[in-house]
Amino acid sequence: MYRLPLLRSTSVARPASVLTHLSPVVLRRTLHFQPNSNNTSPQPQPPAGNRYVSSLSDMAPVQDPPQPSFKESAYLNRMNMLELLRFTLVSFMSSYPLLVRLSVKLLPYTPLFIVRNIIGPIYTGGETPKEVLKTIKVLQNRGFANVMLNYAAENAETNTKKKSIRSRIANNSVVQITIQSIEEVFLKVAPHTAQDGTVTTGLHAAGACALKPTGLTDDAAMVLRRFNEPEGVDPELDRARAEYLGACRAICDYVAENGKGKVIVVFDAEKYDLQQGVYASQQQMMKEYNVDGKVIVGGTIQMYLKDSLKTLYELIADARKQNYKICLKLVRGAYMKSEPDRGVIHDTKADTDKSFNEGVGVCIEDAEDVVSKLIVATHNWRSMELTNEMLQRRADKAHLEDADGRVVFAQLMGLCEDYGEALAKENRVVLKYVPWGPARETREYLIRRLEENAGSLETTGPRAFYESLAELRRRILRF
Ligand SMILES: Cc1cc2nc3c(=O)[nH]c(=O)nc-3n(C[C@H](O)[C@H](O)[C@H](O)COP(=O)(O)OP(=O)(O)OC[C@H]3O[C@@H](n4cnc5c(N)ncnc54)[C@H](O)[C@@H]3O)c2cc1C
Repeated sequence: MYRLPLLRSTSVARPASVLTHLSPVVLRRTLHFQPNSNNTSPQPQPPAGNRYVSSLSDMAPVQDPPQPSFKESAYLNRMNMLELLRFTLVSFMSSYPLLVRLSVKLLPYTPLFIVRNIIGPIYTGGETPKEVLKTIKVLQNRGFANVMLNYAAENAETNTKKKSIRSRIANNSVVQITIQSIEEVFLKVAPHTAQDGTVTTGLHAAGACALKPTGLTDDAAMVLRRFNEPEGVDPELDRARAEYLGACRAICDYVAENGKGKVIVVFDAEKYDLQQGVYASQQQMMKEYNVDGKVIVGGTIQMYLKDSLKTLYELIADARKQNYKICLKLVRGAYMKSEPDRGVIHDTKADTDKSFNEGVGVCIEDAEDVVSKLIVATHNWRSMELTNEMLQRRADKAHLEDADGRVVFAQLMGLCEDYGEALAKENRVVLKYVPWGPARETREYLIRRLEENAGSLETTGPRAFYESLAELRRRILRF
């Protein structure tokens, strides 16, 4: 009977942490790829020789591991009283669905100084590249290797409600600001060093410049919706599509010429009706730029979609055939509440979990020849633990230590800070997804995040609030 070797039973000495308790019962329940009986769409076929799927089929159940906790990280401990009060208040407002709905209603009317001074420091990197650099230094001190940086004003989609934001940034286009941020942030981030000159972050990895596709040009949403329509039928579409691809190439060209391996460009994923266009355009960029051993650009796959594994397998097959490298961020997906066609998303959370973990496994174990960079973007501790375990198993078995950061973890700033620190202590490369930009624009980002992340409250919500409350009580009673 095959049993996944646990970190705690391996011969390699590693720091003990909450992440070392892998549970095969969780793996078997959530990972083994099985067709969903309620799923009417054709089931994706794993590529030939899928070792990952078959290796998980015969595992014995053991107890669920304990969930990591803020208590075990120094995150809350290090905060001064003001920071702790701020964190407790903000985590309270995002702890239960009713409070989230209230926060979403109140945020548009919240004075900017509150956004800037109370909410902003928890969830965003600052308003200028200089402030972002300071934030990165703080994150590096805590063990994070680098950041995924997102200019928050990009989130202004071209609809009437948000038009005002787009026109405000029109003269200073998103492409220009993105390039400026690469130049003034990523090219200046140095590996973190301690007093004695040793590198303390250890795993300094390339940062990632996260791009929201709908923010790139005025007509991006229309282009993405119709991206796969043939050329030469609608001149307006041809013009807008060329403009969109031009914006993508301008950023990729800049990184290819000046990036020095310090940054990659990663396209975020959007709502389903835009996503086929996003998939096609991000694939086109990978084909153009990830050649000759270089990895300049990557994309995102939303694993909550029923067709996500099919998308992944097709991408892997195409990269093998056409000889380019893949860089991928895997996420579960943020638009469950707002998706008009719920049918495209897995029927249950368990199915989404299976799909996500399966995608990670395939990228790590079955497609290492083409997947040159994998960003495991999640706040789900089971998925983090599984990935960590897989990397450890490879290191033990084949000495494939992931020292070059082929597989990195990423979490949104302000969420699951304790898990991120625990992973970094395991010598894993962990990036923080850091939005930045003027407070007015980051407020829009915060509203969107609150709306989108309602689906992940189970992981991120009350836990942070109760633990910060306990820390507050502990400090007050001690005085
Ligand atoms: C660094 C980073 C970058 C991200 N970038 C993007 C992006 O580009 N595009 C994007 O769409 N999202 C993005 N997200 C958000 C992500 O898609 C998830 O919404 C969020 O991370 C919560 O999922 P989770 O993996 O953390 O785990 P969990 O909290 O365990 O899972 C919650 C998620 O599970 C899914 N789910 C919940 N209930 C059900 C159900 N009943 N049936 C089926 N599925 C269900 C939903 O996707 C929900 O968001 C990003 C997240 C991170 C950390």
